[in-house]
Amino acid sequence: MSQYQYHPHNLHRLEQGAQSLLFHPPTLALFQSDPAMERQLQQLGQFNAGEWIQQDQLDKELIDDLRALRILTAKGEPVDSSDRVQQLLLDSGEFPLSTLILNVNTGCNLSCTYCYKEDLEDAKNGLKMDVGTAFAAVDLLMRENPGDSPVNIVFFGGEPLTHLPLIKSVIDYAEREGDQRSKPVNFSMTTNATMLTPSIMDYLDTHRVGLTISMDGPQAIHDKNRITSTGNGTYAVVRRKVEQLLSRYRSRPVGARVTLTRGVTDVVGIHRHLKEELGFFEVGFAPVTAGDVANYNLPPEQLAQVFGEMRQLGERYVEQAIAGGNIGFGNLHQLISNLHNGSSKALPCAAGLSLLAVDGNGELNLCHRFTGSALPTFGNVSAGVDKSALRQLLSNALDKSDRGCSTCSIRNLCAGGCYHESYTTDGDLFSPTWQYCDLLRDWTDFGIRAYHRILDQSPDYLEQHIIQGVNP
Ligand code: SF4
Ligand code: SF4
Repeated sequence: MSQYQYHPHNLHRLEQGAQSLLFHPPTLALFQSDPAMERQLQQLGQFNAGEWIQQDQLDKELIDDLRALRILTAKGEPVDSSDRVQQLLLDSGEFPLSTLILNVNTGCNLSCTYCYKEDLEDAKNGLKMDVGTAFAAVDLLMRENPGDSPVNIVFFGGEPLTHLPLIKSVIDYAEREGDQRSKPVNFSMTTNATMLTPSIMDYLDTHRVGLTISMDGPQAIHDKNRITSTGNGTYAVVRRKVEQLLSRYRSRPVGARVTLTRGVTDVVGIHRHLKEELGFFEVGFAPVTAGDVANYNLPPEQLAQVFGEMRQLGERYVEQAIAGGNIGFGNLHQLISNLHNGSSKALPCAAGLSLLAVDGNGELNLCHRFTGSALPTFGNVSAGVDKSALRQLLSNALDKSDRGCSTCSIRNLCAGGCYHESYTTDGDLFSPTWQYCDLLRDWTDFGIRAYHRILDQSPDYLEQHIIQGVNP
C-alpha cells in the first residue's frame, strides 16, 4: 500500500474575519478553505511533521490535492519545488547577468551619521571609477547578457552625482552599444538630491534615468542624521531640489527611500509628508537593524513599533486600493505584487544571480553593499565573472537544510534575508536574520490578508496597478 510523508510547513493557515485562508508557501498561492479541505486537515492534525502515513488512513479523494500541494509526498518526490528550479539554473550555468551596479565614486558630499558604506570617503578623496573601467563593465554586461533582452545599469556611490562626467560617458556608451544590439538599456540611480540642478534633472529625464531620492521625512527627522560634513541639516536644500525635480521630471516616477534608525518610527507621518506634502510617487522604508554603526540600529521594541506603523499605513493602502487608488506605500505594494505575480523565490535577492556591483578597481562584488568589505570578489571587468565561485555561493544559499528557514511560512518570500545584513550581524552570509523573523512573518501575514481583501473587493486595482503598472 502507498504511503506518504506529511509536510505541514507546506500550508499556512490564516484567519480573515470568519473565513479561513490557506497560504501555500512553496508557490505563494492563496485559497479559501472549504469543508472538504477542513475535514482532511483535521485528519492530518493527528500526525507529526515528517511522519509516513498509510494511504487508507486518509480520504482517498483528497490525497491528490494534498500531493499537488506537496503537503504529502511519495518517496523520492521533492518537498519544495522552487529550490529545485533555481538549483537547475545554477547547474546549467543559465544565470545571466542583467543588472550591474557601478560604484562611480566612493566619496559623498554629505556625512550622514548612520551611513553603512565601508568604503565611504568625502567627495574629493573618494575612489572615482575611471572611464576605461566603466566601459569594460558595460562590455561585460553586454557579453554576459547576449540577445535583445533589457539590461540595467545602476549608478551608485557614495553620491553618484559627484562623478557626473563619468555617468554621462557611460550613458552615451551603453546607449550606443545597446542600439547596435537592439538591446534596451535602463539606467537608475539613488541620490541625496543635493547636487541636482535643473539642467542635470533634464539630462537624466531625457535618458529616462529612474531616480530614487534618499530623504528621511520632515525636517526634524531628516536633519537628525542627513547632515553635511560641518554638521548642518540638509532638509531645506533637499526639499527645494525635490520640488524642482517633481515639477519637471516626466520620463519615470520618482520615489523616496527612507532610512529608519533608532528613535525614528513614525512611518505614517513620514509617508504623509513625503507622499502628500512633497508629492513623491512612492515611499519605501528601510529599517536599519544590523548597520555597521550599531548605535543607530533600531532596538527590538522600536522595530516592533515600526512594523505596527507599517500595518497602520497598510490599512490605508488597502482602503484606497479598494476605492481604486494607490497611496504609494512601496513596501506593501512590493509584497502584494510578489503575491499577485506568484514571485516565489529560493534566494533572497538577485545578488550574484543576475546582479553584481563593480567597484572603482573594476572588481565584481556580490552587491553594492559589499564594495569595500572583506568578502572576496567574484572576478573583475577584464577577466570576467567567476561563475564557479558564484555557483558555489548560491548553492550554499539554496541549501537551507540546517537553518531555521526550511520550514518557515515565508521562506519563499524572504528566502533567508539580506546576505549583507547576515554578514554584518554574524559574519555569515547565510545566517537567518533572527532579530526580526517573527516581525517579518507577522508583516507578511498582514500583507497576505491585505492582498486577499483587495483581490476579493477590487480585482481591477491589481490589474491596473500591478499588472499594467498605472501611476498613482
Ligand atoms: S530569515 Fe527568518 S523570516 Fe526569513 S525565511 Fe528564514 S526563518 Fe523565515
Ligand atoms: S544582499 Fe542585501 S543589500 Fe545586497 S542586493 Fe541582496 S538584499 Fe540588497
